[in-house]
Amino acid sequence: MSFSIKEWIKRPEEPFIVAGPCSAETEEQVLETARLISKDSRVKVFRSGVWKPRTRPGHFEGVGETALEWLKKAKVETGLLTTIEVANTNHIEAALRHDIDMVWLGARTTVNPFMVQELAEALKGTDIPVMVKNPVNPDLQLWVGAVERLQKVGLENVIAVHRGFSSLSQNKYRNYPNWALLIEFKSLMPEVPVICDPSHIAGRREMILEVSQRAIDLDTDGLMIETHIDPENAKTDSRQQVSPAQLAETLDQLVFRSARSSNFEFLNRLEQLRKRIDKIDLDIIDLLSARMQIVEEIGLYKKDNDITVLQIERWKEILKNMIAQAENSEVNIEFVKQVYQLIHEESIRLQTDVMNQKLAKNDE
Ligand code: PEP
Ligand code: MN
Repeated sequence: MSFSIKEWIKRPEEPFIVAGPCSAETEEQVLETARLISKDSRVKVFRSGVWKPRTRPGHFEGVGETALEWLKKAKVETGLLTTIEVANTNHIEAALRHDIDMVWLGARTTVNPFMVQELAEALKGTDIPVMVKNPVNPDLQLWVGAVERLQKVGLENVIAVHRGFSSLSQNKYRNYPNWALLIEFKSLMPEVPVICDPSHIAGRREMILEVSQRAIDLDTDGLMIETHIDPENAKTDSRQQVSPAQLAETLDQLVFRSARSSNFEFLNRLEQLRKRIDKIDLDIIDLLSARMQIVEEIGLYKKDNDITVLQIERWKEILKNMIAQAENSEVNIEFVKQVYQLIHEESIRLQTDVMNQKLAKNDE
């Protein structure tokens, strides 16, 4: 086998593509899916759920250990490496016994530090690569904590998987991507490769390409895409799985851009553009500072004349003018509204402070 996950983790330059069914259902389904997937050399690892975490009982819960034999056959025949989800120590023992190459912790496991710790202890002493899905809820610390627990027992090959988050509000995703949280994860743990699972974010196959491209544009290191020989009739997650042909099509359409470049001219131009941005950012802070000084002056003036801090008509007028300006300048109106809401809140806070200080002085 020429591809080594451990080597890749040290230099994650080419995208790490994991594909395979949500669940292993039959030997035929596993082998046929693996055969077709393996025709595409971009796919390195074959995934399959063996024990399935179902929200409610009474649904297909995976075929269990039997499937590990099928995965072994798939690996021998196709050369693809294999990965499964593990959620307890028995799962880990079985995975190791059956030569599974890599394991992953599911979103319902990452939420529970007790479980993560138990799994970390069970994996201690092995050097099996582990993928850690983000927790179901948008809690960055839980995700970081799970990765740390694995690293602390000496596991060096940990990869994070962004699979989106449950959300109370209705939106077009099955699991809301919360890209900002992904970016924060990457800045807290820059040494940990992150791949994206667009299947569980999108929840429907029509959206896999769009979500994958978005993730790649944010410099993620690869993708995990649920792929099934007969997606429509899959026993789990049938709406979001793609066929091996659709997988290849998706990979063809994606534009992988490099976050790094050694082209001197490119770097030079990028540097110049960044310097301009830095200058504008400093100007923004200077302008905010100047605005807030005037706000303080107005606060004192209002106080001396017994006028309330908030004058709703004035606020409406500012907002109207700024929206008009945004329209003229082709800046996103929603964005400008939000920025002005924050500026206004801060101005009110400052004026209220100024008035209270003045009051305190008068009391002395
Ligand atoms: C899966 O990968 O099939 C799965 C159950 O994922 P998650 O833990 O992200 O829900
Ligand atoms: Mn699934």
